[in-house]
Amino acid sequence: MIENLSKEGIDLEILQRKLELIFEMEEDLILVLNKAGLIVKVNANGLVSLDFKEKDILNTHILDLIVIKYKAETIKAFNEIIEGAPERTFEAAIYSFRGSEILFRLKAKPIFSDGKMTEIVIIGKNIEHIKDLKEEIENLKMKLMEANRILSLERQRTSQRKSLLEELNKMKSDFVSNISHELRTPLASIIGFSETIDSDPEMPEAMKAEFNYTILNEGKRLARLINDILDISKLEGGKIEITIVKFDINLLMNEVIDAYINSAQVKNIILSREIPEGEILIEADKERISQMIGRLLNNAIKFTNAKGRVKVIVKNLFREVEIIISDTGIGIPETDVPNIFQKFYRVNRPGTEIPGTGLGLVFVKQIIDLHKGFISIQSEVDKGTTFSVKLPKNHI
Ligand code: ATP
Ligand code: MG
Repeated sequence: MIENLSKEGIDLEILQRKLELIFEMEEDLILVLNKAGLIVKVNANGLVSLDFKEKDILNTHILDLIVIKYKAETIKAFNEIIEGAPERTFEAAIYSFRGSEILFRLKAKPIFSDGKMTEIVIIGKNIEHIKDLKEEIENLKMKLMEANRILSLERQRTSQRKSLLEELNKMKSDFVSNISHELRTPLASIIGFSETIDSDPEMPEAMKAEFNYTILNEGKRLARLINDILDISKLEGGKIEITIVKFDINLLMNEVIDAYINSAQVKNIILSREIPEGEILIEADKERISQMIGRLLNNAIKFTNAKGRVKVIVKNLFREVEIIISDTGIGIPETDVPNIFQKFYRVNRPGTEIPGTGLGLVFVKQIIDLHKGFISIQSEVDKGTTFSVKLPKNHI
């Protein structure tokens, strides 16, 4: 019997059958291409995974089965093999018979016969599930990024909240130390003068009267200060209800200005007004508006030197009324202007001790805010200051 043996004495028929068996048993896709790229052999499991019948896939060009997106990479891998690369591994999606796309990791190797490449063998591992995993990972990555973003936003918010709280705390302790300081000064002179009177029974009556006068004044100052602080804290806490009534602002303005004629005269200041004829009715808290204008007028007279001028103008606008209080006084430096509505803020003017606590404008601003009005200021050092207050005529 003539046996089909190789040069090395191996039984080629058995080898062939072994190979066929491996080919059929292999679970991954196996494709054999000829030099032209046509499929000349495919394993049974490969057919199952692509849902093809053998007759439908044989002689199909491999590139006709590759999904467009992966074509360039596939061509590149084959070209490299044709040019002598020993093997190439790449990913490509292959169309099944029904047209669905299945992702494979393909390993391609050339087969040589007499030193010439005759075929290419491709083994493809289905990595469809990896694709799903990849998508899931992408999804998770996005979610992680989102979570990180939310986290950093939350961190930012917390730190903002913290710094706001710190600021409020600081404001509170500043406020307390300012108040203590302001209260201590009049109290010190009240106690000081009373002790002096008490310790000197022989004190002349005139001197005693003078000391008593100081004590009375300081006492009044103290009472005013306490009232101011209470007023401001009530306004700030939203505890003050404003009582809205309809009234003639022109009439009110005339009354308030009249009340200051005396203090202007004492300082030799010309106090004038420009108030339109007739009435301008507005809805507001009459008492508070009167106090607010009073504070502004008080400042105008206080911070204007003798022979200066203070003028009050009322303008009837469309939906608002504008009240302008301008003086030819000492003015406010540009750098101080943004701060003058803060509690206890007073412009530092060395050498000129003008009394005050720095609460008047806080009160003014609060009243205007409560009426949804607007205050603006223009000032120039040694030339004068103009405050403009706009109030809506109808309460909103
Ligand atoms: P208070 O009104 O509590 O008695 P005050 O008058 O010093 O004290 P504000 O009325 O709040 O305090 O004013 C704050 C600061 O703004 C004043 O100390 C002053 O330096 C400056 N200021 C206010 N109005 C004028 C003005 N018309 N001209 C110049 N400076 C002014
Ligand atoms: Mg004031």
